[in-house]
Amino acid sequence: LVSRKRKPENTVIDINGELIGEGKVHFVMGPCAVETYEQVKEVAQAVKSKGIKLFRGGAFKPRTSPYDFQGLGIEGLQILRQVANEFDLAVVSEIVNPAHIEEALEYVDVIQIGARNMQNFELLKAAGEVNKPVLLKRGLSATISEFINAAEYIISRGNGNIILCERGIRTYETATRNTLDISAVPILKKETHLPVMVDVTHSTGRRDLLIPTARAAIAIGADGVMAEVHPDPAVALSDSLQQMDIPTFNHFIDEMSNFAATI
Ligand code: PEP
Ligand code: MN
Repeated sequence: LVSRKRKPENTVIDINGELIGEGKVHFVMGPCAVETYEQVKEVAQAVKSKGIKLFRGGAFKPRTSPYDFQGLGIEGLQILRQVANEFDLAVVSEIVNPAHIEEALEYVDVIQIGARNMQNFELLKAAGEVNKPVLLKRGLSATISEFINAAEYIISRGNGNIILCERGIRTYETATRNTLDISAVPILKKETHLPVMVDVTHSTGRRDLLIPTARAAIAIGADGVMAEVHPDPAVALSDSLQQMDIPTFNHFIDEMSNFAATI
């Protein structure tokens, strides 16, 4: 059902009036994790002032170590909703447990399914049964075909509002946290009718590569770019090495506007 052979025209997803997949590039920005109301609000203010509507933040954090910050859970979703309402933003947040999908609908505008859960088939089925867009990230070691099949799990249950997100894959290369598979973007756009985004934060794990990789994503035809922003990355409870502070974020968005004007 996700195949372009079955549906030649692009799927356009309406998120509070933002049309994803219609040709314009959309940014999904916000902190890695929801830590406090004040922290989320500071980032939301910055995001809003750059005219961005899609606001991300993790309330359920799938951390590699069980001793690392696991997120605020439902309380984190409540903070996101409150701040998003104050600034008229749409909330994109990861859900890791099928049992939380129903409750999350009250707080989120887009359900994110993270890389580690790309083949959590019960979660995919649960996301397929609701009437909210899903941002599905590519698994750390998933082939493009496996990624497309994961989206098929969601659409086959009735929910066709799926945004695919390339976020880097695991390779032998250690210079970056993951290896951004940039050619996945045109392949996914050719094989499916779904919008495709690129997460430059998790694919590179390097703040100095966010601008060039985001330019590459836009140039190759991505419908959107995701990146993380924190008021003080040095003290962030997760991903402190790669989140942008607010001045860096402002510069990033200005660079993206300059670049978009050249292509
Ligand atoms: C995230 O976007 O918060 C995240 C954990 O990313 P990924 O699932 O791609 O690792
Ligand atoms: Mn992160």
